[in-house]
Amino acid sequence: MSRSHDLFAAAQRHIPGGVNSPVRAFRGVGGDPVFFESASGPHAIDADGKCYIDYVGSWGPMILGHAHPEVLAAVRERLDKGLSFGAPTELETVMADKVCELVPSMDMVRMVSSGTEATMSALRLARGYTGRDKIVKFEGCYHGHADSLLVKAGSGALTFGEPSSPGVPAALAELTITLRYNDIDQVRETFAEIGSEIACIIVEPVAGNMNCIPPVPGFLEGLREVCDQYGSVLIFDEVMTGFRVALGGAQAHFGIKPDLTALGKVIGGGMPVGAFGGKQEIMSRLSPLGPVYQAGTLSGNPIAMAAGLKTLELISAPGFYDQLAAKVTTLMTGLKERAAVAGIALTTNQAGGMFGIFFTDQQVTNYEQATACNQDQFKAFFHGMLERGVYLAPSAFEAGFVSIMHTDEHIQATLDAAADTFAAIAAR
Ligand code: PMP
Repeated sequence: MSRSHDLFAAAQRHIPGGVNSPVRAFRGVGGDPVFFESASGPHAIDADGKCYIDYVGSWGPMILGHAHPEVLAAVRERLDKGLSFGAPTELETVMADKVCELVPSMDMVRMVSSGTEATMSALRLARGYTGRDKIVKFEGCYHGHADSLLVKAGSGALTFGEPSSPGVPAALAELTITLRYNDIDQVRETFAEIGSEIACIIVEPVAGNMNCIPPVPGFLEGLREVCDQYGSVLIFDEVMTGFRVALGGAQAHFGIKPDLTALGKVIGGGMPVGAFGGKQEIMSRLSPLGPVYQAGTLSGNPIAMAAGLKTLELISAPGFYDQLAAKVTTLMTGLKERAAVAGIALTTNQAGGMFGIFFTDQQVTNYEQATACNQDQFKAFFHGMLERGVYLAPSAFEAGFVSIMHTDEHIQATLDAAADTFAAIAAR
């Protein structure tokens, strides 16, 4: 048995399910999770010393590859000056200036320590600013695990949501309306009915938590129009897409300006960081300027800021995102070609440095279609690739990520592994 297997057994004694975040437990694909020991560039090494080409990248932050020497050096330099002060540092101002420069819809920004905190705080601010309680989100989007956001759709478009987890009060879930992603007509109908009661729409501008699903033309534009018409706040949850789809996020890529933006992942370069920000008029309602309360003992932590700032500096290099997107295109084109050779139906989606593969012959644009894909084939593909040294997200409902350190050789090796795996699946 592998060391990962033993470590997983040991982990389960005192950690629920042996993991500190559920998707890591491999429940979606079966088998023992891989325990990692170290990582460098596009590679991650497990507890048994096996090396994988990694397409998870800590779920998005490692856009420069793992253990980038310049990021590590920036962290080391800060370390000797102390880990945390709970008081302002100059680094936080540098970070805020940089974020507002890179994401033009943001006039002001507040740092937090996770994506969940970022979306939860943006939501409170939108409610506080509008004086309204209801919110709209979309089926298949994930915005972290704040109570208002762990809500699934009710039985019809205009019914209010039901908790998707025990512990979320029904009274709160009722304030969340969950609509179909990429269905602007349903959004318009809902607002025509109760638009004046809706504080905000929160959306992943490219969905990355039901696999990777870009917005259809007109969807984000429509959300912007509807929010303008009804005085609701448009929140882009760019925790995943920020600095991933383009330097200015999905909003720059699609040319839509939200009122508020939630950030995470890349902005911390692998450290626990999130941020939310947007229009000055809304952000100035935040404590201590305004009455909407939000706070954090470790917010703006100097070590995390150092890692994040160095990451933002390096991804600002000219041509960075063209290179990243080209890598994704090579990977997606290659996967489709190899699946076709084996006679396996496969489609792909991509946006900048993120991608999704679907075991279906349909182009996938919403949650219903994503859940209708062939899950057995996905599981077989995941395990076949894992065996051959390629680490993909252990769930059919997560996007994949490429780093700037994934070279043509790594992608070619991935495609060779995929060709063998598809052939094995076809022969079953
Ligand atoms: N929003 C989106 C779009 C995410 O993808 C995630 C995490 N995958 C979150 C919010 C929550 O971030 P965190 O896990 O850092 O709390």
